[in-house]
Amino acid sequence: MPTVFSHSLVGVVFGKYFAKRTGLKFWTLTILCAIFPDFDVITRFFGIPLWHMLGHRGVFHSVLFVTLVAFVLVTAGYREIKRFSKEWWSFFVYFLLIGMSHIILDTLTSGGMGVGLLMPFDSTRYLSPYRPIRISPSRLVNFFESTGARIVVSELIWVWIPSVTALIILWFIRRRKRKRVAIISKQ
Ligand SMILES: [Zn+2]
Repeated sequence: MPTVFSHSLVGVVFGKYFAKRTGLKFWTLTILCAIFPDFDVITRFFGIPLWHMLGHRGVFHSVLFVTLVAFVLVTAGYREIKRFSKEWWSFFVYFLLIGMSHIILDTLTSGGMGVGLLMPFDSTRYLSPYRPIRISPSRLVNFFESTGARIVVSELIWVWIPSVTALIILWFIRRRKRKRVAIISKQ
């Protein structure tokens, strides 16, 4: 997996593009959604092996699971929004895209188990043919011991630079818009 920081950053980029008004709840749910599939590492402590459907990157990294997570987050997090209204669907698609970004990013990592994208219907573990992101160990101690620096560099290149670029572009677009509005309101 890329580190939880990289998954969170991608979530923040989605959030910045999606929402005009944000708040603590919005960002909490965004980060939670971005990293949620990786909570499946705890299955290891229950003796579930990696290759098992319930193991890390198994069914909890599937399209079905991230769809369910998106549904639960909107339904529980935004009770004030009428279910299946236009606004509800926009939040649902938003959280779904963040969840999808996590599992797709994981297929781009070198090494480790593939991702059970279509579980539980298909037990295949998928990996992209092109995998530029170095796999990050799920235990922090391993991260510092082994190839931590190389992992950071690969995530900088493939996740952080594109994400920060996307944020800068958005900042310029919004600034131009604000200026245009200011000019029109002065006329
Ligand atoms: Zn993951």
